[in-house]
Amino acid sequence: MIKLNLNENFICRIWEDSSCYSNLKTTSGKNVEIIDTGIRNPDSGPDYYNTKIKIDGVSYSGCIEIHKSEKDWKTHKHKGDNKYNSVILQVVFYKDAFNKDSLNPVVKKSRKIPTVILSDYLTRSVREIWKEIINNPSEKFRIPCYPENYNTSDEIKKDWLSKLADDRLELKTAKIKLRLEEISGDQSKKIFWEQVMFEFICEALGYSKNRKQFLCLSQKIDLIKISKMKLSRLQTDSLLFGLSGFLKDLRFKDDYIESLKYEWESLKSVIRKDTIEKSEWNFFRLRPSNFPTIRIAYASALLFEIINNDFFKKIFLAFEEGQNISKELNALFKIPEVSHYWKNNYIFGKKSSSAIASIGNERIKDITVNVILPLINLYSAYFDKTNLKARVNFYYRNQKQKNGRNEITRVMEKQLNIKSGTIAAEQGLIHLHNFYCIREECNKCGIGKSVFGGTAVHEPFRIILY
Ligand code: SF4
Repeated sequence: MIKLNLNENFICRIWEDSSCYSNLKTTSGKNVEIIDTGIRNPDSGPDYYNTKIKIDGVSYSGCIEIHKSEKDWKTHKHKGDNKYNSVILQVVFYKDAFNKDSLNPVVKKSRKIPTVILSDYLTRSVREIWKEIINNPSEKFRIPCYPENYNTSDEIKKDWLSKLADDRLELKTAKIKLRLEEISGDQSKKIFWEQVMFEFICEALGYSKNRKQFLCLSQKIDLIKISKMKLSRLQTDSLLFGLSGFLKDLRFKDDYIESLKYEWESLKSVIRKDTIEKSEWNFFRLRPSNFPTIRIAYASALLFEIINNDFFKKIFLAFEEGQNISKELNALFKIPEVSHYWKNNYIFGKKSSSAIASIGNERIKDITVNVILPLINLYSAYFDKTNLKARVNFYYRNQKQKNGRNEITRVMEKQLNIKSGTIAAEQGLIHLHNFYCIREECNKCGIGKSVFGGTAVHEPFRIILY
């Protein structure tokens, strides 16, 4: 395993989000159940207090100490420090390579503190968790130029953010271009544009917790093959739920489930793709309306629209001819109608007490910014449609953002003392945060040049502030 140079604050963020790990065991093989991760201690002493856990069914409450590696207990000089007597569990991120057996620390009265190696039980890669965390900055997050940048003119800030907004759109466009060229060398065929659009929309439907799974699912669907099969709505549902692994070992029985299973029996021999493991889908800490089952139902309805009702052309026309692009895109993304079952069920066999919206305005906005704008931008470049490109740009730069601003933009707006009222301005801020602020690139930043006058900034930045 490649050991990343993580700091304890980052490990604490992982510890506090129990969806990041599962089935914890101590180094001696005992099951650890987290009842309460505890309260972060800002002072000296153990990292968390008031933590409640069960080890092999026995309840404990007390403190938790977080470390990067096992040897840290010793190097941090906790040995013999009475503040650590109430530690009930040591959470260590990486196991020390040289250490065959656990170095369970010992406190007062020769009590051995059990240890968990957290990296052995992560539900997703450190890189994915890192991405989620940088997208949700903690309140302690401070950019190094704050508050000095308040003396930098609005013009400098706006010009720099405008350039970054362009960079961000081009970055997203390049990602779609790469995939399009991977799929086929012939970009004149609409079906390949439809394929790439479907894949990227699916990725966006996965939110942060099921993004990879959705991308994997969508890439198992070959639009050329599927469109020739002339599938019904039910068969399309069966295809997606079959490939996603949800039809395997399903305990519940109802007419819809039986029909899906029946269709899947014949479909799977034609599709011939491995299915995803059901256990790979994340439900934990998601609102039921964001459950992957609901999103797969929407992806199925969307696939049906793409194949049968020229969805891609409608999107393209909204940009080329639309009077109100935003309104038209919103209406278009509400067209794919999930099967009746998913209007009342969050998961298989469980009814919901209220009607479920298949897709909300927030998700549509996210898909528009991350998929549709770069896709149409790419399309206009491929087919040399200058008018279309101008319309994409106009929309990007002028479309007001009423709601849905994320944590990053909120923090950055406040600390840069600016307002990001349009899609482009918001994207510029996100790009600044992700590619400059958290990477110690103040020297290359237009605002940083004004604030620091070109001198190097050596802030212990990056992951550390999180
Ligand atoms: S990268 Fe620019 S905006 Fe970010 S902290 Fe440095 S100077 Fe400020």
